[in-house]
Amino acid sequence: MKFVLATFNRDKARELEALLAIPGVEILSLSEFLLVASPEETGATLLENAVLKAEAARRATGLAAIADDTGLEVLALGGAPGVHAARFAGPRASYADNVRVLLERLHGVPPARRQACFRTVCAAVLADGTRVVGEGVLEGRIVESPRGANGFGYDPVFEPSGSDRTLAEMTSEEKNAISHRARAVRALARQLAPGRAG
Ligand code: IMP
Repeated sequence: MKFVLATFNRDKARELEALLAIPGVEILSLSEFLLVASPEETGATLLENAVLKAEAARRATGLAAIADDTGLEVLALGGAPGVHAARFAGPRASYADNVRVLLERLHGVPPARRQACFRTVCAAVLADGTRVVGEGVLEGRIVESPRGANGFGYDPVFEPSGSDRTLAEMTSEEKNAISHRARAVRALARQLAPGRAG
């Protein structure tokens, strides 16, 4: 099955391409199609945003499309930044800006109360308009200061439960073995090809 990957974020594209390297799935990059712009992420939920991006890519290319949307839910912040993870520090915030604001908001919060999770919804819209969705969660905590140079986004401050390393201190293979995105892709793949994906 041929899918166009509905993202212009190189970090997410790199991970998704590795995770979707499964038999029978061929992935095309959205950047191969001229004049395709990414839609505004106006949805109130990860599901709405993932479907919005996949639908826009399918309309623009005529091909089946896959998109993901990821949120970071921090318990001590009542679930923030949640779906607004990309814009936590403002509309054009960099990864570093968002991490800085997150650490400021958690200043003084003790280690035992820094629980958080990443949640990814991965949506496929098939050429006939059928929607298929998978969700993945990674539990962990927000550390006091950034560690590690791999990964992207909030990876340097997110330590998965049971690990003493942040996601940014792991190799991409280690992150892809446990990540929210990997779990969402697996859940999606199970529905696209029941019995084929683990
Ligand atoms: P998006 O809305 O799915 O593009 O992601 C929202 C924001 O969450 C991104 O801008 C990143 O800052 C962050 N993010 C998404 N996925 C990850 C991840 O796997 N690790 C760390 N941060 C992530």
